[in-house]
Amino acid sequence: MKLYITTDHENFKNELEEVVRAFAPYCVLDPEGTPVSVRLLEQNDTVKTIITSDLSEVSNSYPVISTLSDLMKKRFYKRYMKRDLYDYLHALTGVSLSYGSLTGIRPTKLFYELREEGIEPEQALRDFFRVSPEKTRLIADIVRNQEGILGAQTDKADWFVNIPFCPSRCHYCSFLSEVIRPKKSNLPAYVEALIKDIACAPPQKERRAIYVGGGTPTSLSPDLLDRVLEAINANGEEFTVEAGRPETLTAEKIAVMKARRVTRVSVNPQTFKQETLDLIGRRHTVQDIFKAYDLVRKGGSFDVNMDFITMLPGESFEDFKHSIDTAISLEPENITVHSLSIKRGSVFAETAYDNFSDGLAERMSDYARSALDRAGYGPYYMYRQKNTSGRLENIGYAKKGKICLYNVDIMEETHDIYASGAGAISKRLYGNGLIERLAEVKEIKGYLERQEEMREKKIKFFRN
Ligand code: SF4
Repeated sequence: MKLYITTDHENFKNELEEVVRAFAPYCVLDPEGTPVSVRLLEQNDTVKTIITSDLSEVSNSYPVISTLSDLMKKRFYKRYMKRDLYDYLHALTGVSLSYGSLTGIRPTKLFYELREEGIEPEQALRDFFRVSPEKTRLIADIVRNQEGILGAQTDKADWFVNIPFCPSRCHYCSFLSEVIRPKKSNLPAYVEALIKDIACAPPQKERRAIYVGGGTPTSLSPDLLDRVLEAINANGEEFTVEAGRPETLTAEKIAVMKARRVTRVSVNPQTFKQETLDLIGRRHTVQDIFKAYDLVRKGGSFDVNMDFITMLPGESFEDFKHSIDTAISLEPENITVHSLSIKRGSVFAETAYDNFSDGLAERMSDYARSALDRAGYGPYYMYRQKNTSGRLENIGYAKKGKICLYNVDIMEETHDIYASGAGAISKRLYGNGLIERLAEVKEIKGYLERQEEMREKKIKFFRN
């Protein structure tokens, strides 16, 4: 069904269109399609929504709370219009979405917002926003698991260090990660610039957690990896290094990580099916994953995370189940389950790969949740991206006491982030939801050329 949105609230138009996009492929936006008018009228003590087209109509009235600020009124009006548009599209297509009318907001953020507004969050998610009972429970469980962690130690800052180099390009990847060219690598120059970048960290804040990501930081040689980790100079705080590609891990690099006080390593299989690994451009074997896991376990007392993706090309429910079951049998402390998202700039987007799931993504995600629950893993952070199979979510699971602080902090935006490296984004929080960001130059070449200018900017950014 081809539709286009007209509205008397132009500032909400993008978000209204997002609701339509969530119904793809049943509804698609098209300027030649049926016009759907989404209006909101303020009348004395009520506001009225009217969603109408040649096909159908939905209308609702809500009381106006006169004590609400203009900002809050805007928030409420947007919720009304999106929810009623969702109902309109649901009636038109017969399709229910797991996250109902939620788009453009992290579900946990909304949960916390509702609680602050004095609204019972679980009931509102289910009854007003049309979130399914299972996903409502999931969100509530995450909030419960974040208790005592969320917003603790806000006098401390987190650190992020980006190493945007990989051995090859995964077909779902949209990061500006450079494929390593052994003979013409600018890795050494990058590491030099990165070490200077790390050195401009604000001295006034203690560190809470460190995350070295990318890219694949373990693509660096042991010497270069050692230089970066030495510059970070960890002191016993949570310290994650991503080893996204298992074939890049060696005993020597693990020894470097141990000596530099890394506490958590992320080894990311994505799947335990060889044909899929070959199809998505990973260029490593299933055996490499077991080998890497074994090396990490033998090399020190690291916590381990493993990432997986639902709906990879050609995978059946049984393939995905096998991956999750195998991961559980290895007993990593954390398991993260992503929904395949088709992102601009990825090979999948360029080749118009269709990740439409017709219920399979939901089955995979539900299986992961129940199998991980049985194995003692609780969900502790989540986020949603655009264009995911089944419009689902990414969820981090952890064994008891093994929650990654950095993941909670970055998702819930509770701490300053001191970020180094190409494309890294530093954040300063000023209370009342006010966040300032400073983005590094994305491309490696630009990052190297403009390093002095950017370092000065960052010193100023973090100055009191
Ligand atoms: S390992 Fe990660 S950063 Fe590197 S290409 Fe794959 S998805 Fe992208």
